[in-house]
Amino acid sequence: NASRLLGKTVLITGASSGIGAATAVLFAKAGTNILLLARREDALKSVQQACVAAHKASGLKEGGEFAPIQLDVSDKAAVAALWSKVPGSLRQVDILVNNAGYVVGREHVGDIDEAVIEGMFATNVLGLIGMTQLLVRDFKARKSGHIINIGSVAGREPYVGGSIYTATKHAVNAFTASMMRELVDTPIRVTEIQPGMVETEFSIVRFRGDTSTAKSVYAGLEPLTGEDIAEEIVWAASRPPHVNIAEVLVFPVQQA
Ligand code: NDP
Repeated sequence: NASRLLGKTVLITGASSGIGAATAVLFAKAGTNILLLARREDALKSVQQACVAAHKASGLKEGGEFAPIQLDVSDKAAVAALWSKVPGSLRQVDILVNNAGYVVGREHVGDIDEAVIEGMFATNVLGLIGMTQLLVRDFKARKSGHIINIGSVAGREPYVGGSIYTATKHAVNAFTASMMRELVDTPIRVTEIQPGMVETEFSIVRFRGDTSTAKSVYAGLEPLTGEDIAEEIVWAASRPPHVNIAEVLVFPVQQA
């Protein structure tokens, strides 16, 4: 029941494109306020406009405040200083969507640059953990909150050329599952959404801007869209308070 989301404040990392942007628009439609975080300011402003339009079309009075905030989740000092950039009315976050993440390349392990390895861990793992730490203390003090981490099928299954990315997403999976057990005596909910193939900018980033190789990944199947995953995220967030959706694995029909 989406009415449970009315007036809530959601923080989404990686809100400038793909799954994060689609999730923002869907939460906006459901009458929430949103902190939109990513590195690209212009893209965030476009998503903010899309949120304003979606909220207006919903006709809801609740929610409707959308703040784009430039943040690199791998920059520890910037994460620590986040609240100084957040409008006072949006400092009490109810739902954290840890979505920022990427993969670059498909080299075998001996051929991967150290900077590429460190970059993926810094964003996909340490960035997600840093954002969680920033919010979980407040969630515990207020005895409420929901942490939704975007893992991947790569957090369950290995693939050739994916040693580093799969390691980061296995780390997300282990971190999320442990945290859920730690928080079991609190009303705080913890969810992991694990998408299969979703057509977003993900593949373009993966192949370093080579859009035709990026497109070829989806040959012979109909990939998921960012909206498909956004629906799962908003669904998990809108369950009754005693229901915790622990894990959701979502594939395109033609992927297994
Ligand atoms: P996109 O590339 O479209 O979106 C990734 C988002 O993460 C962008 O908004 C990007 O924004 C942001 N981002 C990347 N690095 C950082 C950073 N250091 N700090 C802040 N924001 C950052 O891809 P998707 O929407 O597909 O990816 C979203 C999540 O879904 C990722 O965690 C990905 O691993 C996961 N996933 C995706 C799958 C797919 O097939 N697409 C499958 C399974 C999981 P900006 O560049 O502006 O910072």
